[in-house]
Formats: sequence, C-alpha cells, structure tokens
Amino acid sequence: MSDEANFDLAEILADRERQTAIDAAKGALKRAGSEFCDDCGVAILASRRQAIPSARRCTPCQNTHEAAEKAR
Ligand SMILES: [Zn+2]
Repeated sequence: MSDEANFDLAEILADRERQTAIDAAKGALKRAGSEFCDDCGVAILASRRQAIPSARRCTPCQNTHEAAEKAR
C-alpha cells in the first residue's frame, strides 16, 4: 500500500470515529432531557435544564406529575 493510500484510510477511519462520537453525543442529548415540556410543549427554562439536564417537563407539569405519582 502506498503512503498516500495509508493516509486516505486514516482519514476515513478518523471521519468515521468522529461521526460515531457525534451520533453518541446526539443520542445522549436526546436521552438527557428535552428543550420543550413533554406535557404542555412550553420551552423549559434554561436554568431548570442546567440544574436538571434530564428534565423533560416544565416545573408546573413536573409538580403535577409528581403529585399524581404520589396520589397513586
Ligand atoms: Zn409543561
């Protein structure tokens, strides 16, 4: 294999690794939480998302959800 071919292969592998890392990061972001409330669709406050990155509901909906969970 020529040096040039080796370089191309290394580039392809590096690209593939980068894409895998990006996909993994995107997946983690999706699992981590939501930008908008799952229940009412309102934008979740940045401060709340910073405090609880896994938050998928706005504060009022989370309170309602937790109250409903307790009531069971
Ligand atoms: Zn909500």
